Amino acid sequence: MPKTLHVFGHQNPDTDTIASAIAWANYLNELHAGSKEKFAQPNRLGEPNRETQWVLERWGVELPALIEDVTGLDVELVDHNEFIQSAKGIENANIKGIIDHHRIAGCQTDKPLYINMEPIGSTASIIYKKYEQAHMTIDRATAGILLSALLSDTLVLTSPTTTDEDKTIAESLAHIAGVDIQTYGKEMLVAGSSLEGYTPSDIYGMDRKKFEFGKIISYVGQVFTFDTAPVLAQKAELLSAMQDYIDQNGATLGVLAITDLETNNSTMIVTGADVALAQKAFNFTGDEADLPGVVSRKSQIVPPLTSAAQ
Ligand code: MN
Ligand code: MN
Repeated sequence: MPKTLHVFGHQNPDTDTIASAIAWANYLNELHAGSKEKFAQPNRLGEPNRETQWVLERWGVELPALIEDVTGLDVELVDHNEFIQSAKGIENANIKGIIDHHRIAGCQTDKPLYINMEPIGSTASIIYKKYEQAHMTIDRATAGILLSALLSDTLVLTSPTTTDEDKTIAESLAHIAGVDIQTYGKEMLVAGSSLEGYTPSDIYGMDRKKFEFGKIISYVGQVFTFDTAPVLAQKAELLSAMQDYIDQNGATLGVLAITDLETNNSTMIVTGADVALAQKAFNFTGDEADLPGVVSRKSQIVPPLTSAAQ
Protein backbone atom coordinates (compact mmCIF):
# COMPACT_ATOMS: atom_id res chain seq x y z
CA MET A 1 0.00 0.00 0.00
CA PRO A 2 1.44 3.36 -0.95
CA LYS A 3 2.08 5.75 1.92
CA THR A 4 -0.24 8.74 2.24
CA LEU A 5 1.40 12.00 1.26
CA HIS A 6 0.84 14.66 3.92
CA VAL A 7 0.56 18.21 2.57
CA PHE A 8 0.88 21.11 5.01
CA GLY A 9 1.98 24.72 5.41
CA HIS A 10 3.76 26.57 8.21
CA GLN A 11 3.10 26.76 11.95
CA ASN A 12 0.62 29.44 13.04
CA PRO A 13 -1.29 28.77 9.83
CA ASP A 14 -2.70 31.63 7.78
CA THR A 15 -5.26 31.45 4.98
CA ASP A 16 -2.65 30.84 2.24
CA THR A 17 -1.11 27.97 4.21
CA ILE A 18 -4.45 26.22 4.86
CA ALA A 19 -6.04 26.88 1.44
CA SER A 20 -2.85 25.82 -0.37
CA ALA A 21 -2.62 22.57 1.59
CA ILE A 22 -6.24 21.74 0.74
CA ALA A 23 -6.04 22.73 -2.93
CA TRP A 24 -2.69 21.07 -3.51
CA ALA A 25 -3.86 17.80 -1.94
CA ASN A 26 -6.96 18.01 -4.20
CA TYR A 27 -4.73 18.54 -7.23
CA LEU A 28 -2.50 15.58 -6.37
CA ASN A 29 -5.50 13.34 -5.71
CA GLU A 30 -7.02 14.28 -9.04
CA LEU A 31 -3.71 13.66 -10.78
CA HIS A 32 -3.57 10.20 -9.19
CA ALA A 33 -7.29 9.52 -9.63
CA GLY A 34 -6.51 6.00 -10.81
CA SER A 35 -5.03 4.88 -7.52
CA LYS A 36 -7.37 3.14 -5.10
CA GLU A 37 -5.87 4.66 -1.97
CA LYS A 38 -6.26 8.34 -1.27
CA PHE A 39 -2.94 9.69 -2.45
CA ALA A 40 -2.60 12.97 -0.58
CA GLN A 41 -4.08 14.39 2.58
CA PRO A 42 -4.05 18.04 3.67
CA ASN A 43 -2.93 18.78 7.22
CA ARG A 44 -2.33 21.78 9.46
CA LEU A 45 0.24 22.48 12.17
CA GLY A 46 -1.93 24.62 14.43
CA GLU A 47 -5.27 26.28 15.03
CA PRO A 48 -6.71 28.36 12.18
CA ASN A 49 -7.01 32.12 12.69
CA ARG A 50 -10.31 33.99 12.55
CA GLU A 51 -9.94 34.87 8.87
CA THR A 52 -9.24 31.27 7.83
CA GLN A 53 -12.20 29.99 9.87
CA TRP A 54 -14.43 32.54 8.14
CA VAL A 55 -13.11 31.56 4.70
CA LEU A 56 -13.62 27.81 5.21
CA GLU A 57 -17.14 28.38 6.48
CA ARG A 58 -17.94 30.79 3.62
CA TRP A 59 -16.96 28.17 1.02
CA GLY A 60 -18.11 25.09 2.94
CA VAL A 61 -14.66 23.54 3.04
CA GLU A 62 -13.55 21.22 5.83
CA LEU A 63 -10.67 22.18 8.11
CA PRO A 64 -7.68 19.83 7.57
CA ALA A 65 -6.67 17.57 10.44
CA LEU A 66 -3.94 18.61 12.85
CA ILE A 67 -0.63 16.79 12.51
CA GLU A 68 1.92 16.96 15.33
CA ASP A 69 4.99 14.94 14.34
CA VAL A 70 5.97 14.04 10.76
CA THR A 71 8.94 11.78 11.50
CA GLY A 72 9.14 9.06 8.84
CA LEU A 73 6.19 10.39 6.81
CA ASP A 74 6.04 11.31 3.12
CA VAL A 75 5.35 15.04 2.99
CA GLU A 76 5.00 18.04 0.70
CA LEU A 77 5.48 21.53 2.07
CA VAL A 78 3.36 24.44 0.91
CA ASP A 79 3.77 28.14 1.75
CA HIS A 80 7.06 27.63 3.63
CA ASN A 81 10.41 25.86 3.41
CA GLU A 82 12.30 26.91 6.55
CA PHE A 83 12.51 23.92 8.90
CA ILE A 84 12.21 26.17 11.97
CA GLN A 85 8.72 27.17 10.72
CA SER A 86 7.72 23.60 9.88
CA ALA A 87 6.45 20.50 11.65
CA LYS A 88 8.14 18.63 14.45
CA GLY A 89 10.23 15.82 12.94
CA ILE A 90 10.62 17.54 9.54
CA GLU A 91 14.37 16.74 9.53
CA ASN A 92 13.43 13.06 9.50
CA ALA A 93 10.52 13.20 7.07
CA ASN A 94 10.70 12.25 3.40
CA ILE A 95 10.12 15.60 1.66
CA LYS A 96 8.70 14.90 -1.80
CA GLY A 97 8.05 18.48 -2.83
CA ILE A 98 7.89 22.16 -1.92
CA ILE A 99 5.55 24.83 -3.31
CA ASP A 100 6.35 28.24 -1.91
CA HIS A 101 6.86 31.96 -2.42
CA HIS A 102 9.30 32.81 0.42
CA ARG A 103 13.09 33.04 0.68
CA ILE A 104 14.88 29.69 0.88
CA ALA A 105 16.59 29.19 4.22
CA GLY A 106 17.39 26.35 6.60
CA CYS A 107 16.05 23.56 4.44
CA GLN A 108 17.92 20.39 3.52
CA THR A 109 16.82 17.10 2.00
CA ASP A 110 18.64 13.85 1.34
CA LYS A 111 16.70 12.92 -1.79
CA PRO A 112 15.77 14.76 -4.98
CA LEU A 113 12.38 16.50 -4.90
CA TYR A 114 9.94 18.66 -6.84
CA ILE A 115 10.25 22.36 -6.12
CA ASN A 116 7.89 25.04 -7.39
CA MET A 117 8.99 28.41 -6.06
CA GLU A 118 8.19 31.83 -7.47
CA PRO A 119 8.39 35.42 -6.27
CA ILE A 120 4.63 35.81 -6.51
CA GLY A 121 1.86 37.09 -4.21
CA SER A 122 0.74 33.77 -2.75
CA THR A 123 1.34 30.04 -2.84
CA ALA A 124 -2.26 29.85 -4.03
CA SER A 125 -1.19 31.71 -7.22
CA ILE A 126 1.38 29.01 -8.01
CA ILE A 127 -1.19 26.27 -7.36
CA TYR A 128 -3.65 28.00 -9.71
CA LYS A 129 -0.96 27.92 -12.42
CA LYS A 130 -0.36 24.21 -11.84
CA TYR A 131 -4.08 23.52 -12.33
CA GLU A 132 -3.99 25.58 -15.53
CA GLN A 133 -0.93 23.78 -16.86
CA ALA A 134 -2.57 20.40 -16.21
CA HIS A 135 -5.83 21.59 -17.84
CA MET A 136 -7.60 20.63 -14.64
CA THR A 137 -10.95 22.16 -13.66
CA ILE A 138 -11.06 24.18 -10.45
CA ASP A 139 -14.38 23.77 -8.63
CA ARG A 140 -16.13 26.79 -7.12
CA ALA A 141 -15.17 26.11 -3.49
CA THR A 142 -11.51 25.51 -4.37
CA ALA A 143 -11.50 28.72 -6.42
CA GLY A 144 -13.06 30.50 -3.44
CA ILE A 145 -10.40 29.42 -0.97
CA LEU A 146 -7.52 30.00 -3.44
CA LEU A 147 -8.84 33.51 -4.14
CA SER A 148 -9.12 34.12 -0.38
CA ALA A 149 -5.51 33.01 0.10
CA LEU A 150 -4.27 35.30 -2.68
CA LEU A 151 -6.27 38.29 -1.41
CA SER A 152 -5.19 37.60 2.17
CA ASP A 153 -1.46 37.44 1.38
CA THR A 154 -1.57 40.52 -0.88
CA LEU A 155 -4.06 42.57 1.19
CA VAL A 156 -6.46 42.55 -1.73
CA LEU A 157 -3.72 43.05 -4.34
CA THR A 158 -2.20 46.15 -2.65
CA SER A 159 0.91 44.66 -1.02
CA PRO A 160 4.23 45.26 -2.87
CA THR A 161 4.48 41.48 -3.23
CA THR A 162 1.57 41.60 -5.72
CA THR A 163 2.56 40.87 -9.33
CA ASP A 164 0.61 41.52 -12.55
CA GLU A 165 0.16 37.77 -12.77
CA ASP A 166 -1.54 37.74 -9.36
CA LYS A 167 -4.06 40.29 -10.61
CA THR A 168 -4.92 38.16 -13.64
CA ILE A 169 -5.15 35.02 -11.50
CA ALA A 170 -7.41 36.80 -8.99
CA GLU A 171 -9.76 37.78 -11.82
CA SER A 172 -9.95 34.20 -13.09
CA LEU A 173 -10.54 32.80 -9.60
CA ALA A 174 -13.15 35.46 -8.77
CA HIS A 175 -14.94 34.58 -11.99
CA ILE A 176 -15.09 30.87 -11.09
CA ALA A 177 -16.04 31.65 -7.48
CA GLY A 178 -18.68 34.14 -8.60
CA VAL A 179 -17.60 37.06 -6.39
CA ASP A 180 -16.33 40.61 -6.87
CA ILE A 181 -12.67 40.92 -5.84
CA GLN A 182 -12.93 44.24 -3.97
CA THR A 183 -16.24 43.51 -2.21
CA TYR A 184 -15.28 39.99 -1.23
CA GLY A 185 -11.73 40.98 -0.23
CA LYS A 186 -12.90 43.75 2.08
CA GLU A 187 -15.54 41.46 3.60
CA MET A 188 -12.91 38.82 4.32
CA LEU A 189 -10.39 41.26 5.83
CA VAL A 190 -13.05 42.83 8.06
CA ALA A 191 -14.29 39.41 9.21
CA GLY A 192 -10.74 38.21 9.87
CA SER A 193 -9.27 41.24 11.59
CA SER A 194 -11.55 41.48 14.61
CA LEU A 195 -9.33 41.44 17.69
CA GLU A 196 -12.21 41.20 20.11
CA GLY A 197 -11.48 38.85 22.97
CA TYR A 198 -7.79 38.42 22.20
CA THR A 199 -5.17 38.88 24.94
CA PRO A 200 -1.81 40.60 24.24
CA SER A 201 -0.24 37.15 24.18
CA ASP A 202 -2.80 35.97 21.58
CA ILE A 203 -2.15 39.05 19.45
CA TYR A 204 1.61 38.41 19.36
CA GLY A 205 0.96 34.74 18.56
CA MET A 206 -1.70 34.96 15.87
CA ASP A 207 0.71 35.33 12.95
CA ARG A 208 4.17 34.76 14.37
CA LYS A 209 7.18 33.21 12.65
CA LYS A 210 10.59 32.20 13.92
CA PHE A 211 13.68 33.51 12.14
CA GLU A 212 17.44 33.33 12.59
CA PHE A 213 19.17 36.59 11.73
CA GLY A 214 22.84 35.61 11.90
CA LYS A 215 23.14 34.20 15.44
CA ILE A 216 20.10 36.08 16.72
CA ILE A 217 16.92 34.05 17.17
CA SER A 218 13.83 36.15 16.69
CA TYR A 219 10.06 35.77 16.62
CA VAL A 220 8.39 38.22 14.24
CA GLY A 221 4.64 38.62 14.63
CA GLN A 222 2.23 40.65 12.54
CA VAL A 223 -1.32 41.72 13.20
CA PHE A 224 -3.69 43.30 10.67
CA THR A 225 -6.46 45.61 11.81
CA PHE A 226 -8.71 48.39 10.58
CA ASP A 227 -8.28 50.08 13.97
CA THR A 228 -4.71 50.23 15.34
CA ALA A 229 -5.46 52.57 18.26
CA PRO A 230 -6.82 49.92 20.67
CA VAL A 231 -3.85 47.67 19.89
CA LEU A 232 -1.26 50.42 20.42
CA ALA A 233 -3.03 51.41 23.63
CA GLN A 234 -1.90 48.03 25.00
CA LYS A 235 1.75 48.53 24.03
CA ALA A 236 3.14 47.91 27.54
CA GLU A 237 1.14 44.68 27.92
CA LEU A 238 2.11 43.56 24.42
CA LEU A 239 5.82 44.18 25.03
CA SER A 240 5.60 42.26 28.29
CA ALA A 241 3.83 39.31 26.61
CA MET A 242 6.42 39.38 23.80
CA GLN A 243 9.31 39.38 26.30
CA ASP A 244 7.79 36.42 28.17
CA TYR A 245 7.40 34.49 24.92
CA ILE A 246 10.94 35.03 23.65
CA ASP A 247 12.38 34.24 27.11
CA GLN A 248 10.50 30.94 27.16
CA ASN A 249 11.54 30.07 23.62
CA GLY A 250 15.24 30.87 23.66
CA ALA A 251 15.03 33.98 21.49
CA THR A 252 16.52 37.42 22.09
CA LEU A 253 14.47 39.59 19.76
CA GLY A 254 10.70 39.95 19.76
CA VAL A 255 9.11 41.97 16.96
CA LEU A 256 5.46 42.79 16.35
CA ALA A 257 4.26 44.69 13.30
CA ILE A 258 0.81 46.24 13.74
CA THR A 259 -0.46 46.82 10.21
CA ASP A 260 -3.26 49.28 9.47
CA LEU A 261 -5.50 47.84 6.73
CA GLU A 262 -6.99 51.28 6.06
CA THR A 263 -3.70 53.14 5.42
CA ASN A 264 -1.31 50.24 4.63
CA ASN A 265 1.21 51.57 7.18
CA SER A 266 2.70 49.60 10.07
CA THR A 267 3.90 50.37 13.56
CA MET A 268 6.61 48.04 14.80
CA ILE A 269 7.24 47.37 18.48
CA VAL A 270 10.31 45.48 19.70
CA THR A 271 11.68 43.89 22.84
CA GLY A 272 14.61 41.74 23.98
CA ALA A 273 18.38 41.83 24.42
CA ASP A 274 18.91 42.24 20.68
CA VAL A 275 16.56 45.15 19.92
CA ALA A 276 19.63 46.91 18.49
CA LEU A 277 19.31 44.69 15.39
CA ALA A 278 15.81 45.99 14.67
CA GLN A 279 16.87 49.57 15.50
CA LYS A 280 19.75 49.28 13.03
CA ALA A 281 17.56 47.67 10.35
CA PHE A 282 14.84 50.32 10.54
CA ASN A 283 16.84 53.29 11.89
CA PHE A 284 14.96 54.17 15.07
CA THR A 285 15.55 54.42 18.80
CA GLY A 286 13.45 53.04 21.64
CA ASP A 287 10.87 50.30 21.31
CA GLU A 288 8.58 51.63 18.58
CA ALA A 289 8.99 52.57 14.92
CA ASP A 290 6.61 53.98 12.35
CA LEU A 291 6.96 52.11 9.05
CA PRO A 292 5.02 53.96 6.37
CA GLY A 293 3.95 51.76 3.45
CA VAL A 294 5.22 48.60 5.13
CA VAL A 295 2.72 45.72 4.99
CA SER A 296 4.76 42.67 3.99
CA ARG A 297 6.84 40.77 6.51
CA LYS A 298 8.54 38.67 3.83
CA SER A 299 9.52 41.51 1.51
CA GLN A 300 9.74 44.58 3.78
CA ILE A 301 10.54 43.40 7.31
CA VAL A 302 12.63 40.22 7.10
CA PRO A 303 15.11 41.48 4.42
CA PRO A 304 16.26 44.58 6.40
CA LEU A 305 16.65 42.44 9.53
CA THR A 306 18.64 39.88 7.55
CA SER A 307 20.92 42.59 6.08
CA ALA A 308 21.42 44.27 9.48
CA ALA A 309 22.68 40.96 10.89
CA GLN A 310 25.37 40.58 8.22
MN1 MN B 1 1.69 31.99 4.93
MN1 MN C 1 1.81 32.74 1.50
